[in-house]
Amino acid sequence: MIAPFNEIVQQGIDLQTGITELLELEKPFPNRLVERVKTDDVFARLIYRASTEKDLIPSLLQVGITQENKTNHSNFELVKNGAKSFMNWGLAGFKMASEEVINERKAICKTCPFITQATEQIAYKFKLSADEDMDICSICGCVIGRKVAMPNQKCPKNNW
Ligand code: SF4
Repeated sequence: MIAPFNEIVQQGIDLQTGITELLELEKPFPNRLVERVKTDDVFARLIYRASTEKDLIPSLLQVGITQENKTNHSNFELVKNGAKSFMNWGLAGFKMASEEVINERKAICKTCPFITQATEQIAYKFKLSADEDMDICSICGCVIGRKVAMPNQKCPKNNW
């Protein structure tokens, strides 16, 4: 866990209460995100940054909802969107963007609040190899590792 949150815990303050106060939230900071702050340093840094950049808060509080709480219909749509872009990539001969572009896009996605882990259902349908990274863009439903490699893809939030 990153230093500012470690300090909160060392002061004997419950982490959920500490983050709620830090972000000046009216409702308690969600439990599911407290666990993520403990284990995901990139996400924890974004939460800490949101204490001074308050416009980040609404997006950050949505993280996880898209995948954890969506219905099967939504999962179906994500599967459909992911399959479509994968098929289009195949039709384009699986042409790859340059390594530099891929790495730059990946770095941006890794710190984006809209990145999320694939549900088991999606991972089962899409995983091509056991060690394939199944992070997903919760806006477009694409598997990030593949989306960033496709030359003609664009970030739906215009981040790249
Ligand atoms: S493609 Fe854009 S919106 Fe999606 S995770 Fe990456 S940076 Fe975020």
